Amino acid sequence: MNLLEHFVGGKLISGSSNRKSKVFNPATGEQESEVRLATKSDLDQAVDIAKKAFETWSLKPALQRARVMFKFKELIEKNYDELTKLIVSEHGKVYEDAKGSLTRGLEVVEFACGIPQVLKGEFSENVGTNVDSWSMRQPLGVVAGITPFNFPAMVPMWMFPIAIACGNTFILKPSEKDPSCALKLAELLKKSGLPDGVFNVVNGDKECVDAILINKDIKAVSFVGSTPIAKYIYENAAKNEKRVQALGGAKNHLVVMPDCDLDGAVNGLMGAAYGSAGERCMAQSVAVAVGDIGDELVSRLSKKAEALKVGPGMDKASEMGPLVTKEHFEKVKGYIDLGVKEGAKLVVDGRNLKLQGYENGFFIGGCLFDHVKKGMRIYKEEIFGPVLSVIRVKNFEEATNLINNHEYGNGVSIYTRDGDAGRTFASKIQVGMVGINVPIPVPMAFYSFGGWKRSLFGDSAMHGVEGVRFYTKLKTITARWPSGIRSNPEFIMPTMK
Ligand code: NAD
Repeated sequence: MNLLEHFVGGKLISGSSNRKSKVFNPATGEQESEVRLATKSDLDQAVDIAKKAFETWSLKPALQRARVMFKFKELIEKNYDELTKLIVSEHGKVYEDAKGSLTRGLEVVEFACGIPQVLKGEFSENVGTNVDSWSMRQPLGVVAGITPFNFPAMVPMWMFPIAIACGNTFILKPSEKDPSCALKLAELLKKSGLPDGVFNVVNGDKECVDAILINKDIKAVSFVGSTPIAKYIYENAAKNEKRVQALGGAKNHLVVMPDCDLDGAVNGLMGAAYGSAGERCMAQSVAVAVGDIGDELVSRLSKKAEALKVGPGMDKASEMGPLVTKEHFEKVKGYIDLGVKEGAKLVVDGRNLKLQGYENGFFIGGCLFDHVKKGMRIYKEEIFGPVLSVIRVKNFEEATNLINNHEYGNGVSIYTRDGDAGRTFASKIQVGMVGINVPIPVPMAFYSFGGWKRSLFGDSAMHGVEGVRFYTKLKTITARWPSGIRSNPEFIMPTMK
């Protein structure tokens, strides 16, 4: 059995624990590896090493740190196929989708290559007579990232390229369901010339996460995962005086206006609801049919959902792969059963899908519910599977109220040809990332990623300038150089003259 260890101080280490977790290939349902789960003392040792590495790494000129990022970018490009296959083999998503997610991570590395430009501070000459003032941003120290299973490369890459380029050292605690990608990225960073101890991977579960939350030398925690855990991380990291950004779950709506390009909306919904088997925090899991568009929308969606090609991620013909684990498969299936019980109309039922040769894989076919109501649990809760709910509303106002009253506010989209509706929607909607005739409005690396309401705890989004602010602290200096005149002490609050 392949045993996945920790990567600390520039090398693979076993640590002190004998606890392990199983890693499956979701397409075959077979266990392929096991991963070591760190103890508190393993985590603390890794932090000590990262703290030591910070002393020298933080003093390196930003340009030198950027050069490591340039080299890292080159090595990711050389290792695209291997990294993509690692994602497919442990997560299950289809190859091209996995490759696309890696590209979105690589774009953050490209952003980090420009860190000397982004770290430039502000300077004002003569804020008072012969007094200058400037501000600069300095790294925090050791920072940690705790990441979910659904993007084993991209989500860690939202965090560590910027954190490291800003001069911090990093502890990554990847999902125990698919940890191999993180270990490969650590190896590539080392080959890029990153000094040992600057980037570390500590594998683990709750025990390791709790150790992160109480370690006094970890200055900031970035988390991405489900809402209950995001809230837990937010509260406990803050209690322990850390900076924290904790991104949680989602229930994203795509509003289909009667005047829209319906083919565009249907194709957008198909990719956004069923891509990655719905295991995306930006998946569109609710289609809001406005006015009289519902029947036609459901008719077109059902034909496409029935024709969806479900299969192993490495099969070029597959449009959608399996779910990540047996437990998650059961959870998603349970939600579909629940939707039927709650009275929604299951127009396309993917529960009984069996694939020849992959009978033990965690596959479920695309499911489509019509006449979903806002009180139903399948509407209120995140399913995180290939299940699209259609909810019918009378008009634009009802659509926006519905969305604004939902507890989550990650992503949203509207399909319309009416510029006024699009503009009003963007302005009034209580959601962090908005698409207009764009199904999955994931911001580019040079913008920032983050939802509202219970989709994000804390006040910083990931990557872009928000990422730089999160991983640095502001210092403002006010200076006067003596010109030969010595002043007397002043006992009143200084104001500039
Ligand atoms: P999860 O919350 O179960 O796990 C996320 C991380 O937290 C993992 O590293 C896991 O080991 C750790 N963890 C799990 N249980 C814990 C506990 N009790 N105490 C401490 N740590 C714990 O999430 P997941 O199932 O891996 O990922 C799917 C979720 O992530 C979905 O809800 C999805 O919407 C969300 N997600 C959100 C975003 C976003 O940007 N908002 C992006 C990707 C995924």
